[in-house]
Amino acid sequence: MIHILDPDKSLNDWLAERLFPAYRAKQIRRWLYQGRAGSFADMNNLPKLLLDQIDNDFTLWTTKIRSHQKSKDGTEKLLLELSDGGKIECVLLREENRRTICISSQVGCAMGCVFCASGLDGVDRNLTSGEIIEQMLRLQRLLPENERLSHIVVMGMGEPLANLDRLLPALDLASAKDGLGISGRRITISTVGLPKAIDRLANLNSRYHLAVSLHAPNDQLRDQVVPVNSNIGIDKIIEAADHYFDVSSRRLTFEYVLLADINDQPEHARQLAKLLKSKNILLNVIPYNPVPGLPYRTPSSKAISEFRTILLKSNINVQFRQRKGDDIDAACGQLRRKKVKLHEIQPVN
Ligand code: SAH
Repeated sequence: MIHILDPDKSLNDWLAERLFPAYRAKQIRRWLYQGRAGSFADMNNLPKLLLDQIDNDFTLWTTKIRSHQKSKDGTEKLLLELSDGGKIECVLLREENRRTICISSQVGCAMGCVFCASGLDGVDRNLTSGEIIEQMLRLQRLLPENERLSHIVVMGMGEPLANLDRLLPALDLASAKDGLGISGRRITISTVGLPKAIDRLANLNSRYHLAVSLHAPNDQLRDQVVPVNSNIGIDKIIEAADHYFDVSSRRLTFEYVLLADINDQPEHARQLAKLLKSKNILLNVIPYNPVPGLPYRTPSSKAISEFRTILLKSNINVQFRQRKGDDIDAACGQLRRKKVKLHEIQPVN
């Protein structure tokens, strides 16, 4: 079976081989991306002969929804099971007019950030472009007919820059007019900071926003919190990010997860301010969302407020992000972990 959402597989060729007119491809795409067809049978302007054949050769959904959680704040989260049994998570966030989705790029993660649930068991595999697009469509279908997705953040499970070859075709479709039509400036790729891949993205003239997960203002601390840093170093990351900004003119975002007593001290805020001063950036500080079984904690509101004051005094453009979907384990990897554990204890047939 061919995954209809896989951009590598040419629907045009398939139609031509069966002597169907080329405009049918457009109609099918419209159903998928704008009409939100849940099955081929929904595509009611296509001839039955075509529908029968397409149903034979193609599959629309390769994932099963294993859990669908709704938070009081409007956040919804899906746990999807892939055709090989792997599990990924994706989230829909509602904020005023924004309908933002957070999607995964890999099953698990190889980066090993010590506080993160996604990487606790390493990485299983890259997601295909089709599987990345499928998350977008699954989440779009949660919206009422008169609402459309407005923003995408690739901040779910996995390291997107370790799977660029599959991510980029998926984002191309997301931003295409006859795809989801979400402008590149409303799409953000979040990375642990892989300089070579950032350079590659810059050389491709990428139109997407880049968010770099910094989490520490010096290499000694970053090596502890984000172990891949020991082979990279903050200087190289900042250099690549600056270059990306020069080429793309997209303002960079730096992310900083605040971990109590680890990277939340006033000296860390001062070092961070020095590192980022006079750069045209947004610093996103995110109080840690605790992961059961890990020893890390959310800082006290006093520590958070002190950290904030130092950055503001240094004129850093900083935003303290509110946690969304706390009641549904919306931090990446948490829901999957819970489910995996349940399966371990009580195998499900
Ligand atoms: N690998 C990419 C994208 C996935 S992680 C990256 O590192 O950016 C997306 C963001 O969520 C990262 O900034 C990550 O550090 C943060 N994150 C992971 N677990 C978290 C948790 N429990 N609480 C708060 N933020 C978390």
